[in-house]
Amino acid sequence: MKAGLLAALATLAVAARGSAAPPADLLLLNGKVFTADPAHPWAQAIAIRGERIVAVGERAAVEREAGRGVRRLDLGGRVVIPGINDAHAHVGPELPGTPIAVKGMEPSFDDVLAAVREAAAAAPAGGSLKGEVGWTALSDPRATRAALDEAAGGRPVVLECWTGHDGLVSSAVLRAAGIGEESWNPPGGFYGHLTGTRTLSGALHEYALWRLTRRLRSEVPAEQAVRDVHAFEQQALRFGITSVQDMSNALRRDAFVRLLAQARPILRWRVITFPMVEPSQPDLDEGPEVPAHPTPLVTVSGTKWILDGTPVEARALMRDAYADPAGRYGQGNFRPEAVLAAIRRGGADPLLLHAVGDRIIAQVIASMQQLGGEATWRPRRLRIEHGDGLMPDLVDSARRLGIVVVQNPSHFTIGDVLSRRYKPEVRARFQPLRSLIAAGIPLALGSDG
Ligand SMILES: [Zn+2]
Repeated sequence: MKAGLLAALATLAVAARGSAAPPADLLLLNGKVFTADPAHPWAQAIAIRGERIVAVGERAAVEREAGRGVRRLDLGGRVVIPGINDAHAHVGPELPGTPIAVKGMEPSFDDVLAAVREAAAAAPAGGSLKGEVGWTALSDPRATRAALDEAAGGRPVVLECWTGHDGLVSSAVLRAAGIGEESWNPPGGFYGHLTGTRTLSGALHEYALWRLTRRLRSEVPAEQAVRDVHAFEQQALRFGITSVQDMSNALRRDAFVRLLAQARPILRWRVITFPMVEPSQPDLDEGPEVPAHPTPLVTVSGTKWILDGTPVEARALMRDAYADPAGRYGQGNFRPEAVLAAIRRGGADPLLLHAVGDRIIAQVIASMQQLGGEATWRPRRLRIEHGDGLMPDLVDSARRLGIVVVQNPSHFTIGDVLSRRYKPEVRARFQPLRSLIAAGIPLALGSDG
């Protein structure tokens, strides 16, 4: 290691302690410590007091922080990294019910029906069933609540697509949720209909699904909900995740904050409001205001809107027509004026917009330019969640507007779907990552878990 760097690190260690700071009670020694500081990315040792790192640097400098009775942990050359932030997750109570057993992510609708029959035969009388299926089954013309009603003997059944954007429920679920057979679409979402009628088929898309599943999740008993939060935390910790940003679609914001208070989390949580209303309307559904820091490890900030679908169901809103299904361009969840209203709301409270297709991203950029442009938006760091369609011609505007992109690596696992959906020239430019970094666009990753 260069002498200059050594000196810098020693200064860092001393500066961190200061004269009056109490000594460290834990030293991590003999490691390969990644600091994420480009000026000196690697160090050997860390001194910790309570929950705070008080020094990072060479062993000798860090040793000087030791108090009486300090614990020394020999890392044996192992790598130490800062805790990973999961920048995009959906955590909350699991849906109630017995899971159906389907193989793979894209079972046929016949496979799904067979699994529903099997689960119905085994589950307690009248108990609900649930399952995660794919778009193959949900887009089957026979995928209706009548088919689920028959297979499940009238039980409540909730099937969700693994994309999270679509579902199919049995008649008992619609009835229990007070959704009439000819209901109008809710803001941002839509129901499927039996061909040629106004009668709901049981299919739920976008916000129609999230409204219903939020209702079901809010009925999960608190002890179970707390267990689900703990299970998520344990799984996250195994990946080195120590903080999580939750798009709180599972529960109303105040209910999720209460759940976290009960769960006494070990991770740091950011709770992001997920309104179920038109962006031009007030969030009456989110319950009372909550403090920005309701408990020490929980922060409440930001609002998330989902503006379009995904390539899986061909609803990511595109400028070029899909190759399959040919002639389609995808579908936005809100009218352009409502998108503008969502962006207008993004002032002091950070704004996060799920935007996948290049058409919706172009619309977001145009709206930002209309509402004050760079001067207004650069400091606000508007987030585009996913940004798969942030095509080369949009990158420079996005950079100048200070847009931050948060992508989920799970989106990179559907190459076969993308190759089918998009013409080769579109596919070739879809899902940029390295080019965003090269352009200077801040990029973070999330689990979408
Ligand atoms: Zn998501």
